[in-house]
Amino acid sequence: MSTTIKFRDYGAIALIALTLVACAFKPSFSAERRVPSSDLPTEREPDGVKPNVSDALKATGTNKRAKSSARLTEEEREKLSQAATVEYNSILEIANLERNGRVKVTDRFLIAYNTSDPYAEWIAALTDEVADGFERFLRKMKLDGEPPKRPMYVFLFAQRSAMDAFEQTLYRLAGKLDELGNRQNTPSGFYTPTVNRMVIYDQTEQEEARVELSGADGDRKNKGKNMTRAQLTREARELKTRDNAVYNTETIVHELTHQLSYNYGLLRRDGSAPSWYVEGLAMLFEPSDGNAPLGWRYKNVLPINSKRYAGFCHYANNARDSSIIDELIASDQPIRELSLDAYDVSWALVYYCYKKRSKEFVKFMKLCRDNPAPVDDPVARKKSFEECFGKTSEFKTAFLKYMKSL
Ligand SMILES: [Zn+2]
Repeated sequence: MSTTIKFRDYGAIALIALTLVACAFKPSFSAERRVPSSDLPTEREPDGVKPNVSDALKATGTNKRAKSSARLTEEEREKLSQAATVEYNSILEIANLERNGRVKVTDRFLIAYNTSDPYAEWIAALTDEVADGFERFLRKMKLDGEPPKRPMYVFLFAQRSAMDAFEQTLYRLAGKLDELGNRQNTPSGFYTPTVNRMVIYDQTEQEEARVELSGADGDRKNKGKNMTRAQLTREARELKTRDNAVYNTETIVHELTHQLSYNYGLLRRDGSAPSWYVEGLAMLFEPSDGNAPLGWRYKNVLPINSKRYAGFCHYANNARDSSIIDELIASDQPIRELSLDAYDVSWALVYYCYKKRSKEFVKFMKLCRDNPAPVDDPVARKKSFEECFGKTSEFKTAFLKYMKSL
């Protein structure tokens, strides 16, 4: 297959991404506050359009809830791995990087990577840990949801440039390349519901050099074999000492929560859920845990996200009024505009609903899943919100009082 054809194949995948609702954020300018990055293009897919998906894409989890999770046969694993490697390597080629993608398949994830093997194994363990936690969260909230029949795709790059190449391709094919130059922030990872890919890079910026110095196996013993638990723990301990390790982990968990939300059927991949809820949910799961073996673990009561809380306090201390809450309920515009306040207030809204209004929150989540209000209809959105939580004015008063009490 020639390079052109490969690019065209990848382009077909990327074209479907016109509807993506990727989300991301970049490292903070201060230790306490993060800047949400620009989302990728968010045009909606026209009704009735059936995208011409590639075999690789067909093989991924679907939007429909799976009846059961099925273990893959060796043959299926091999087929999926090959298709993902072709797609992944085409991105490396666009980024002028060596086509050296490898693939690790677990029961729930297919991880394509050009980092070291030990780093990819840590990612595999972390993704499983978060997926386990997400399943426990669904059970706790009495929400049904099962793993997709096919593994979820994670594209992991050692280099930022490869992730940028992926993103630029999506923008170019969407005819929105000029928007890339105009935005203030760049993503540190994203998930695209339409093509169902999570895309991240090693923000500790150690993996490229590690592969160059030690080879893909990261200079470990028992080359080519899976790591033992003890080896994995040592690897995770070393990773925690790297610069930007916490932010790296939290970005992965954030994007992964999006991917799980869509693949377990909690959210619909047609983008019908309000952005404050979609983003707030991802930020609810974010907080890392330096004492956890992998750097993150699920807690039965999800903790305060201290960085988002600091951001919320900054907002609350400086805002002239609480109109952003009404705006978030009625529209996705504040998130689209990448307002810092919009992200932090979205976390606070979801945290409050989760902690203090859980029954109403579950009703809202089910409504967003089963009968969502049109995302671009402010009146319908507010009506849908009030159906679950009561009058917005009273909700706001109780919400602000609770946040003040923390
Ligand atoms: Zn997000």
